[in-house]
Amino acid sequence: MADEQKAPTEEKQTNCLGCGKPLKKLRRYYRNGKLYCTRKCWIKATKSKPQEGEQK
Ligand SMILES: [Zn+2]
Repeated sequence: MADEQKAPTEEKQTNCLGCGKPLKKLRRYYRNGKLYCTRKCWIKATKSKPQEGEQK
């Protein structure tokens, strides 16, 4: 099969990882390559997940 589709390296993140709500243009908090609505959501997401090493 010659149907080779290259997936984009960077996935478009449209939802906040903290609350799961869709991100808006104006309100977004970028941290460690991830997007959140606010710093609170970042902290929430960080604390909710167990530490699985650092990103490579
Ligand atoms: Zn959020």
